[in-house]
Amino acid sequence: MSNIRTRFAPSPTGFMHIGNLRTALYAYLFAKKSKGQFILRIEDTDQERLVGDAVKAIYSTLKLANLQHDEGPDVGGPCGPYTQSERKDIYKKYANELLDTSHAYYCFCSKERLDSLVDETGNRRYDKHCRYLTREEIEQKLASGIPYVIRQSVPSEGVTAFSDLVYGEISIENRELHDNILLKSDGFPTYNFANVVDDHLMKITHVFRGMEYLSSTPNYNLLYEAFGWTIPLYVHLPHIMRDKRSKLSKRHGDANFEDFLEKGFLPEAILNYVALLGWNPKSEVEKFSLTELVDAFDVSGISKSSAVFDEVKLRWLNALYIKELPPQRFHSLAAPYYRAISTPVEVNLLSALIQTRISALSDIPDMVGFVDSFDGYSLEMFDSKDAKSSALLAKELLPDVIEALESLECWSNEALFGALERLAELRSIKKKQLLWIVRIAVTGRLSTPGGASEMCLLVGKELALERLRKSLSRLRAAQPVESE
Ligand code: GLU
Repeated sequence: MSNIRTRFAPSPTGFMHIGNLRTALYAYLFAKKSKGQFILRIEDTDQERLVGDAVKAIYSTLKLANLQHDEGPDVGGPCGPYTQSERKDIYKKYANELLDTSHAYYCFCSKERLDSLVDETGNRRYDKHCRYLTREEIEQKLASGIPYVIRQSVPSEGVTAFSDLVYGEISIENRELHDNILLKSDGFPTYNFANVVDDHLMKITHVFRGMEYLSSTPNYNLLYEAFGWTIPLYVHLPHIMRDKRSKLSKRHGDANFEDFLEKGFLPEAILNYVALLGWNPKSEVEKFSLTELVDAFDVSGISKSSAVFDEVKLRWLNALYIKELPPQRFHSLAAPYYRAISTPVEVNLLSALIQTRISALSDIPDMVGFVDSFDGYSLEMFDSKDAKSSALLAKELLPDVIEALESLECWSNEALFGALERLAELRSIKKKQLLWIVRIAVTGRLSTPGGASEMCLLVGKELALERLRKSLSRLRAAQPVESE
């Protein structure tokens, strides 16, 4: 194919679903791999479902994800306008053409009549009543101003078949197909019409979209044929599931790109993970930059079966991306999470310590919680089989630790570590035993973003000593288990 053109055609009806992002990504990758164009089209014809800031969310998501479109409402292009509500005249013209060639017809049926049409399976199915109106009846209804829609006139015989690049050969008996509404009474087209007109006029060669559109694709192909237009190639994408039974949903707070940003995932990591949802790179590699994805992407790797969203895997990828961030960049991303901390701490050091230890930015509050909240930890934390330490040992050693650190002139990591090392030697215990005790005594936590000396350094001399003293008095005040 000479010039590959793909499009992303979101409806601004809410935030950007992860499934939409994946469609955009695959369409982008496919176009870029073949040096073609990636087009953004805003499908805002369902006026009742429009949501205020949804268009903004589309732009900001594409920007954050770095999926730059070549043509679109904001950047223009030769096939504009790229917002469907600005193309009403175009749809009208083409609907009229279908009326003239009897591939479409006026339908004047009232809502009540349509509501009464329910087939054996409980689905509403139009009985094609208006398809058989005479020319006079039509003229008369139009003249008397009865509201109407325009419907596709689907052949009642024959089969419509096509080949989807993911799902293979699909064929359906035409009598199964509905006479879809093409133009609504408000003059807006339905998706069922606009997608065909626009994909044709925008010279789209490959249509990437969710598999929910697979079953209506024969209707679209009949429209292409009615116009005598070339049918594009189709790449329908499998669903993304939260587990075996349910799809990702807004209700679970796990459906939108924004939800994941809020949970502290980086856009690059989300995008990388989304690429793997339903596409198999056919290699061991799982971490891909956008440029690497462009090189690696291949439609033959897209799976037919639903992809299950695995947040554990996303966290794993995200941790890799976080580790690779330049320290200053990580610090600026982490800084908002430090605002709640009231204890003055060396935040650059904090960032350096946690950067390699978290898998999402939202892990930060938990990880730094010890800075402000210290009291109330359990003295059993001093007991560690692995470190061979105990509360009893802590009670014995802390006075010496306090003395050694009080007299320390330079409060650096090396100086602190050296002082603790010397003390361990002096008391003929293992370094590990002492470090465990000091770390717990200064933080009150089992899991901390660094070792004993780093924790002392982080909270500063004054606070470190204050906490060591507090811990010592708690240990002294407690009834030792051993003596009971
Ligand atoms: N506007 C449709 C949606 O948001 C797009 C389907 C398509 O890509 O053609 O679901």
